[in-house]
Amino acid sequence: MTAYDPDNIFAKILRGEIPSTRVYEDDETLAFMDIMPRADGHLLVIPKTPCRNVLDATSDQLAAVMSTVQKLARAAKAAFDADGVTIQQFNEAAGGQEVFHLHFHVLPRFEGVSMRPPGNMGDFDLIAEHAEKIRAALD
Ligand code: 5GP
Repeated sequence: MTAYDPDNIFAKILRGEIPSTRVYEDDETLAFMDIMPRADGHLLVIPKTPCRNVLDATSDQLAAVMSTVQKLARAAKAAFDADGVTIQQFNEAAGGQEVFHLHFHVLPRFEGVSMRPPGNMGDFDLIAEHAEKIRAALD
């Protein structure tokens, strides 16, 4: 398996080298907004320690991340009064992965509403508003 690249975008976000809209963090995990949201409230949950994806993660990393995924899924669903939540996770390029630091997508969903196509930059003010709604639902 390819080695972990410490210069991937999410490693830079963790080190504060590039900006992100943080929603929640604890000792082991960080949740922040996706800059190309496929649904309002689309966020990402990552471990603070290095691993590429599920294939090389330790059980401790997975346990910590999944606990935060559940916390944020509940908060995002409540914040948007959504009907459901989609959790997505991709492994290696062939599996659809583009950023090689383990991450889970959390997307609030509504009956009959499709996800938006990938690759479209979101509106930063709107993303900040959505982050604030999710933060408030965590309290
Ligand atoms: P995946 O690796 O799961 O296919 O997708 C990576 C995700 O990271 C995409 O949803 C993309 O919009 C998001 N992303 C890529 N670059 C950045 C960035 O610099 N900041 C944030 N917050 N999200 C990013």
